[in-house]
Amino acid sequence: MATILYDADADLELIRQKRVAIIGYGSQGHAHALNLRDSGCDVLIGLPERSKSRERARQDGWSPLLPHEAAAQAEVIMLLVPDQLQGQVYRQSIQPELAPGKLLLIAHGFSLQYGQIVPDETIDVAMVAPNGPGAQLRHMYSQGSGIPALWTVYQDVTGRARDLTLSYARALGCTRAGVIQTTLAEETETDLFAEQVVLCGGLTSLIRTAFETLVEAGYQPEVAYTCCLQEVKLIADLLYKGGIHFMHNSISDTAEFGDYLTGPRIIDEHTRGNMRQALKDIQNGSFAREWIMENQAGQPMLKAWRRQDAAHPIETVGEHMRKLLP
Ligand code: NDP
Repeated sequence: MATILYDADADLELIRQKRVAIIGYGSQGHAHALNLRDSGCDVLIGLPERSKSRERARQDGWSPLLPHEAAAQAEVIMLLVPDQLQGQVYRQSIQPELAPGKLLLIAHGFSLQYGQIVPDETIDVAMVAPNGPGAQLRHMYSQGSGIPALWTVYQDVTGRARDLTLSYARALGCTRAGVIQTTLAEETETDLFAEQVVLCGGLTSLIRTAFETLVEAGYQPEVAYTCCLQEVKLIADLLYKGGIHFMHNSISDTAEFGDYLTGPRIIDEHTRGNMRQALKDIQNGSFAREWIMENQAGQPMLKAWRRQDAAHPIETVGEHMRKLLP
């Protein structure tokens, strides 16, 4: 049974007594920094001299430092740069500024799990991984609630890492919703699996293939776009609200019957085998190796896929339809 902790399990004063450096000011960085500031924490922002995010940070009232300056002045360092850059940023800007007892935080386990960061033995290391994008994290906090998070302590030298990590999660607003204790491997592997198989890779491939099938059969692309892509939100909202059975109760009997009859023919045993293989590739590190090598080569495949993605007919139709049916 998962252990879920709430506000009452976390002491906000602990993080308020520390200076916190947020390295990176993107999706997660801006939300962490603003939520912590509104929770009464002393926050510094670390960004490179020529970072595009500096302007946004200034507009939000910060005076960004360089990453190594922020790391030097803080006792808690939250690393919120893209996963593929974390090893380099850790070695160049954080490691030289570490002193025994500092707490290094991450928001996703990739860099630690796959050895991109090998943390010094003298520091505490932990993870607070919010279950959603930064905009949502900030929005929910501003509304007086929060989004859930996964957390774990990876290395506890001081004996205080657990309490300080939970205190950080409280300042972020996540203990308002509930924080689930996990391990680094569990967070990293399930997160990568879900985004590849369901949330991103699975869903977009399903939508595009269905759109292409309808258009190839002679149906209007506008109609194919609406029913295969736009309506996903309506179903996702029902799933979010009450789960699969609740969604089934909310749709027509015809849609529900078609779901049971056709769903397993689309996602069949062959697909299950592919899912198992995708999971193995994540667990044995081959996905991580491929992604690290892709970055070392300057992201050639990612750039080519982005071009293909943007050129797909569903994008043109979508742009047109979003204007007509706002
Ligand atoms: P973003 O790409 O949105 O932001 C990255 C930030 O890091 C930008 O401000 C970028 O600046 C800055 N940056 C780039 N290089 C450096 C550097 N060398 N030193 C300091 N700052 C740098 O990333 P995310 O916020 O999406 O991801 C951050 C972490 O949060 C990752 O570990 C991710 O897995 C995790 N996470 C993300 C979630 C999400 O939904 N986005 C959800 C949960 C966890 P610039 O503008 O110049 O590029």
